[in-house]
Amino acid sequence: MDVVIVGAGIGGLTLGLRLHAAGIPCRIFEAAPEIKPLGVGINLLPHATKELTELGLQTDLARVAITTSKIAYYNRFGQLIHNDPCGRHGGYEWPQFSIHRGDLQMVLLEAFVQRAGTDRVITAHRCTGVKQDDTGVTVHFEHTLTKDKLPPQRGAIAVACDGIHSVIRKQFFPNEGPPRYSGLNMWRGVTRWQPFLDGATMVRVGWHKPAKVLIYPIRDNIDAQGRQLINWVCDIEQETPIAQRDWNRQGRLDDFIGAMEDWWFPWLDVPAMCRAADQILEYPMVDQDPLPRWSHGRVTLLGDAAHPMLPRGANGGAQSILDGSALATCLRLTADPVAALKAYEERRRPPTTQVVLTNRSEPPDAVLEEVYKRTGDKPFRQIDDVISQGELAGLLKRYQRVAGFDKEKLQARAG
Ligand SMILES: Cc1cc2nc3c(=O)[nH]c(=O)nc-3n(C[C@H](O)[C@H](O)[C@H](O)COP(=O)(O)OP(=O)(O)OC[C@H]3O[C@@H](n4cnc5c(N)ncnc54)[C@H](O)[C@@H]3O)c2cc1C
Repeated sequence: MDVVIVGAGIGGLTLGLRLHAAGIPCRIFEAAPEIKPLGVGINLLPHATKELTELGLQTDLARVAITTSKIAYYNRFGQLIHNDPCGRHGGYEWPQFSIHRGDLQMVLLEAFVQRAGTDRVITAHRCTGVKQDDTGVTVHFEHTLTKDKLPPQRGAIAVACDGIHSVIRKQFFPNEGPPRYSGLNMWRGVTRWQPFLDGATMVRVGWHKPAKVLIYPIRDNIDAQGRQLINWVCDIEQETPIAQRDWNRQGRLDDFIGAMEDWWFPWLDVPAMCRAADQILEYPMVDQDPLPRWSHGRVTLLGDAAHPMLPRGANGGAQSILDGSALATCLRLTADPVAALKAYEERRRPPTTQVVLTNRSEPPDAVLEEVYKRTGDKPFRQIDDVISQGELAGLLKRYQRVAGFDKEKLQARAG
């Protein structure tokens, strides 16, 4: 019997590709009536691009993404704190890609459909719950638009890849309560703009009071003037969450632009770029406490359904990609599906728990917080007066280790 995958997002599609490569049949059921390239920017760090390279997708991704050259850290006065070369530029065997989430999803979808067949992705199927017995699972669906009950689907196992509002997670943990607010609200957008710096740099500027901004290009040469599509994210410390979490919720410029009104840097006029946005979305920075278990007999959780994390550090997508690979390997190596799902959980729950907790306490941009605190949010004469290059490298390395893209370890796994 097939593996039933619920959700054709980043995790569900990667799992589908991995299972297909392992010769394990699967079908993916997606709530959206049509899979559209939604979202804004997402980053694929080397631990994720390694997996996608193994799936033969590096060339397709490189065609639609920006191959990121470095991450540049600045204070809010536009003073450079540190340049961190990334991907191949930083000595990894794999690139770092900055990409539109929709482009990533389409590359995964096209590859899956081409390899496994168009009938293997079934849309307009909103999962409502799952039951299991000794021989398999029965997954229940309704039509997303009409709400009519659809025929239940039998499978050997079911994998919930249904994202932050996972129905299957709720079925197993009905009393979880609301998501945990981190104290930050976030506005995200995309703007068609001239390339800045080398046209491939991701910049992180400032700290959460008054604002921190992350900016990076995600599409190259989008018009005759050679402009790029620039993704930006503004985080501001506020007492209450701005809204319910919803990836598609429209945001308002006036709610955040005042916090960075004078951020005109020689390389970029930040407020002008935000003002020219095609689209502004808002999202409260929330996550959920790590779960005590993911696998329940023949049903398990994957990606955001398993470990919703604060969307900082480019790891939501990456960890779901790693989950997909681990689960396919466990299913390939272990004949008993219940034991395979347990083995998958043992492999992936501890490291993703660490990422969830580290994103709360010591995020990838901890460098900016350190400089903010040491300078009292004032300009510095030279960065070495504030923090040594060794300390900076140490802070960055710590996050890389926890998130699983420490260069030496990643390389060793490839060897
Ligand atoms: C519309 C959208 C826009 C996003 N935009 C961004 C972004 O701009 N930047 C960013 O970093 N991350 C974004 N994300 C989140 C990001 O994709 C995930 O954090 C990460 O990639 C983990 O992937 P996932 O597969 O676990 O979840 P997702 O990629 O969220 O995929 C979940 C999938 O499950 C489907 N689904 C949900 N409920 C059901 C159900 N009951 N039955 C069947 N299918 C269901 C959803 O439609 C979706 O296709 C977005 C997610 C979505 C859904």
